[in-house]
Amino acid sequence: MSKPVDNAVSTVRAYIETHHDAFLQDLAEWLRIPSVSAQPDHAPDVRRSADWLAAKLRETGFPTTEVWETPGAPAVFADWPSDDPHAPTVLVYGHHDVQPAAREDGWNTDPFEPVVIGNRLHARGAADDKGQVFFHTLGVRAHLAATGRTTPAVHLKLLVEGEEESGSPHFRTLVEQHRDRLTADAVIVSDTGMWSEDTPTVCTGMRGLADCEIELHGPDQDIHSGSFGGAVPNPATAAARLVAALHDDHARVAVPGFYDGITPLTDRERELFAELPFDEAQWLRTAKSHATHGEAGHTTLERIWARPTAEVNGIGGGYQGPGGKTIVPSSATLKLSFRLVAGQDPDHVEKAVTDWVAGRLPAGIRHTITFGAATRPCLTPLDHPALQSVVRAMNLAFDQKIRFTREGGSGPAADLQDVLDAPVLFLGISVPSDGWHAPNEKVELDLLKKGVETAAHLWGDLAENWRDAH
Ligand SMILES: [Zn+2]
Repeated sequence: MSKPVDNAVSTVRAYIETHHDAFLQDLAEWLRIPSVSAQPDHAPDVRRSADWLAAKLRETGFPTTEVWETPGAPAVFADWPSDDPHAPTVLVYGHHDVQPAAREDGWNTDPFEPVVIGNRLHARGAADDKGQVFFHTLGVRAHLAATGRTTPAVHLKLLVEGEEESGSPHFRTLVEQHRDRLTADAVIVSDTGMWSEDTPTVCTGMRGLADCEIELHGPDQDIHSGSFGGAVPNPATAAARLVAALHDDHARVAVPGFYDGITPLTDRERELFAELPFDEAQWLRTAKSHATHGEAGHTTLERIWARPTAEVNGIGGGYQGPGGKTIVPSSATLKLSFRLVAGQDPDHVEKAVTDWVAGRLPAGIRHTITFGAATRPCLTPLDHPALQSVVRAMNLAFDQKIRFTREGGSGPAADLQDVLDAPVLFLGISVPSDGWHAPNEKVELDLLKKGVETAAHLWGDLAENWRDAH
């Protein structure tokens, strides 16, 4: 006698098999629209992509689908309330714009003419992010078919933005403007990846980002190093001294207050990171670096995922031309960035860095320090019930142990967490070989199917296990 869960798995798989060809044809139609947000020529295509998706989501069953305007490219919003008024509300995030792509960049086929080669679908956007948005359409249909429901088990919302590949300049404002419509108990981001084809993983957080530019001014103009040098402060030396003082001898950031408030990495998380089949030599080759280096007492994965960092992105000042020029330069510039982890407050970091810089400069060096807009870190604890639902749903789809990763980069997911005050979960099925932003981008058709299956199992699990917790 088979268990009900086996029945659910086989019903979902059968439904997906029946509808898989049509699903791929639809996805190919969407991938043919070159929705490149970075290139003004393609603005009509980005709009066409939004309209196409809105229509497809309506056809999928979402009773509400809207194209939301921004000062840049439009986003798509869709809403499918559950008939269960007590169900949790989930917002799925993705994007419908893509990176630029041209045949001459090294593509073997037309980037906007999707083609299946072997078990892979090649096209710009196949993995980043149209494929990952699109698995939710067949996923919710399979969920309904397998459960006999006419509405999803959760209140399901989708927000698919059109400017992610251009840095999401209007995203936060868009979310703030539509906060009432976007309210959710959890956000599911489908714009990330897994460890590899053989090691399915769920990402539990992303780092935040703060960055600044520091201008240092000494004499009002470049001056003779023989007549004045050694008797006045040099801004290039001051810049170098700041850089040299940024880290201590253990490669920890030496700015007082920088580590304040950090949520510590638990022993369990460290164990889970260590269980991943990480090949440091291979990683170094990918990094094109000749050695690892970082905060003492932490592994490479801990350093890039779970520890905050300070990086010198640029340093300049004085004479850079051929030969020598014996001057005390008038100015120098530093560009610094800081990756932040859960618990760190970007405003606090900004103030700590500002005070630290001001306190270390000698008399006669004037300075300005300018911060860009910060991105907050996000992290979902391993024991969060919604995260456990994602893991169970992936487990049904992959029939394998699901492991955990984090993401060292930063993204607009943090805006959703911030504005909506909801935990962010990551459901991505892409793998490193998919070639995001690179020529010959592809998605593995088997993994795409696993994405559909995961989505199909997730909504019922969330509704059942998170009813009272949300
Ligand atoms: Zn993306």
